[in-house]
Amino acid sequence: MERVLVTGAGGFIGHHLVTNLRERGYWVRGVDIKEPEFSEIDADEFEILDLRRWENCLEATRDVDHVYALAADMGGMGFISANHSTILHNNALINLHTLEAARENGVSRYLYTSSACIYPEYLQENADVTPLKEEDAYPAAPQDAYGWEKLISEIAAHYYNLDYGLDVRVVRFHNIYGPYGTWTGGREKAPAALCRKVAEAENGGTIEIWGDGEQTRSFCHVDDTVEGIYRLMMSDYTEPLNLGRDRMVTINELARIIIEISGKHDIRLKHVDGPQGVRGRNSDNTKLREVLGWEPGTALEEGLVGTYRWIEKQVQEARG
Ligand code: NAD
Repeated sequence: MERVLVTGAGGFIGHHLVTNLRERGYWVRGVDIKEPEFSEIDADEFEILDLRRWENCLEATRDVDHVYALAADMGGMGFISANHSTILHNNALINLHTLEAARENGVSRYLYTSSACIYPEYLQENADVTPLKEEDAYPAAPQDAYGWEKLISEIAAHYYNLDYGLDVRVVRFHNIYGPYGTWTGGREKAPAALCRKVAEAENGGTIEIWGDGEQTRSFCHVDDTVEGIYRLMMSDYTEPLNLGRDRMVTINELARIIIEISGKHDIRLKHVDGPQGVRGRNSDNTKLREVLGWEPGTALEEGLVGTYRWIEKQVQEARG
């Protein structure tokens, strides 16, 4: 039985990935700095380890064939735009140590989870942005330290492949959403934050949107994401690859879809000052289709139903 490590297994995507890999028959070790927040984890073994520390990375990567490196100090725009140094420091330590420890422990394959946040700000200044291709990453000019660190770790993975023959995969996620993710506390991302605001609002009330809400993004369901991660890991493609949907919506449209799902049709949008990130972003999936012979298929209206219902339940439980 092949043995795999998922770092960040207590987090949103890691949690779903662990379940998926168990279902595929792998022996799975999950590692995180915290206990899984929202449900029991399916891992065969789960360890609490701070992966900023070298000796913990050596322990985490022992006796495994593959590593899925998802651990990161991260959050939505509110968190990313206000914690540059901490994010750069913590994530660089996590990724450089995990990669080197995987090499020392003889791991055969290593998947690094990067982000659409690595793409240059100068290509994302308009809401009707041209979808971003993998090669658009350079000349580099990410908006935040979060994106710069992701680029450094992508480059590290590239050189470990070149110098040591470590078989690496690099995936660039575009706004992943779904149930069992952070939905409150300041680190939540736009889909979860909007689901929470709608769940908390009265019909006829208002919810706050940061900026004019005309900034655009594409959103990818977590079930598609874990399928894409696995397909990439099983491929022989060592260059960075986008993983997202290529349907762009405005944040106002996203909010209206969630309001529709909630059935509280008279909720209105109130635009307030707040961090918005880049003005527009979309994924070019040409390479994804070519390499994996597949692309994410879950419609936003469909994927948000389960997401909204789960967050609505969390809101109700929090209210007691
Ligand atoms: P998440 O925050 O839910 O999960 C990350 C996990 O890493 C958390 O459980 C956290 O506790 C853990 N972690 C943080 N510091 C750690 C440390 N020092 N040692 C061990 N564990 C630590 O985030 P997610 O949405 O599941 O993201 C997974 C990966 O995908 C991350 O690398 C993230 O940057 C990347 N990504 C996510 C998105 C998205 O839309 N969710 C988009 C682009 C990239």
